[in-house]
Amino acid sequence: MRAVTITPGVPNSLRLADDYPEPPIDEGAVLVEAISVGICGTDREIIDGHYGEAPAGASELVLGHESLGRVLEDPTGSLRPGDLVAGVVRHPDPMPCPNCAVGEWDMCRNGQYTEHGIKGLAGFARQRWRVDPEFAVRLEPALADVGTLLEPTSVVAKAWEHIERIGSRSVWLPETVLVTGAGPIGLLAALLACQRGLTVHVLDLATTGPKPDLVRALGAQYHSTGIAALGFAPDVVLECTGAPSLVLDVMCQAAPNGIVCLTGVSTGGRLIDFDAGALNRDLVLENNVVFGSVNANRRHWDIAASALARADREWLTSLISRRVPVEAYTEAYTPAPDDIKTVLDFA
Ligand SMILES: [Zn+2]
Repeated sequence: MRAVTITPGVPNSLRLADDYPEPPIDEGAVLVEAISVGICGTDREIIDGHYGEAPAGASELVLGHESLGRVLEDPTGSLRPGDLVAGVVRHPDPMPCPNCAVGEWDMCRNGQYTEHGIKGLAGFARQRWRVDPEFAVRLEPALADVGTLLEPTSVVAKAWEHIERIGSRSVWLPETVLVTGAGPIGLLAALLACQRGLTVHVLDLATTGPKPDLVRALGAQYHSTGIAALGFAPDVVLECTGAPSLVLDVMCQAAPNGIVCLTGVSTGGRLIDFDAGALNRDLVLENNVVFGSVNANRRHWDIAASALARADREWLTSLISRRVPVEAYTEAYTPAPDDIKTVLDFA
């Protein structure tokens, strides 16, 4: 069958295999026929050879961690043939650590977890794949065109859950949210903020293209003028760029008792002249919390599936800016202007 593969650590080894083996039964009881996979920056880093680990004993890694497919068979009876499903990306470490032992593999302590399409497990960019039922998340049938958005939505569902858990340390009635970065993660973080009835502001550099309209369509306000011109102190910040100077700016911008959630991965190595003492004073005197958030566990995937089911279908569709058939896979992995989310279609 067809599969999009790379050889980890070998830049530009991306290829479309025609003879990739069928998924072995020990991969999971649920056999799924792929509809599509979403593409993100992690895929490009893996293609560039910075990242990625093949399954034990294999030299190639199948890409794809943002999945969508249809169940072909599930002998356990949890799912029915034809059900629309996405596969959970991360699997618990074999030890397991205290977090993985209770299904919180997103909080794995020892780093020995595995991830489809990233670390030690074949990805979902292949015609058929298998997972066990607890790693298959069912989506409403109406989400067949946009269900690949479930994985990035699970990441922001976790971020929001942790924001709210931190907020519950005291009486907390947040009103305003600032999201920095209007890529897929930022836009989905803004969607979940709007679903909570909060006043949402999104900051991004773009002045043209689809981002300003996508933000306004949510009922949120779009800013491209820089953080200094915002004129308010947000109760919650979701930082989705990883841009070092912006990360520091949002920490200083948060309101008293404010919570800053960092979701962007920076490359590192760039030094900034910065008054760390002033930042420390601000954080202490305002009871602020800054925390990082990555990945998602099964609970977050289920929350994300409900959030997508409640969202405006047309808005979700417009997040998918390009659909590329699998034969043209190299185009799909090459960024294009005004890309929000690119999807590789197998069906
Ligand atoms: Zn673990």
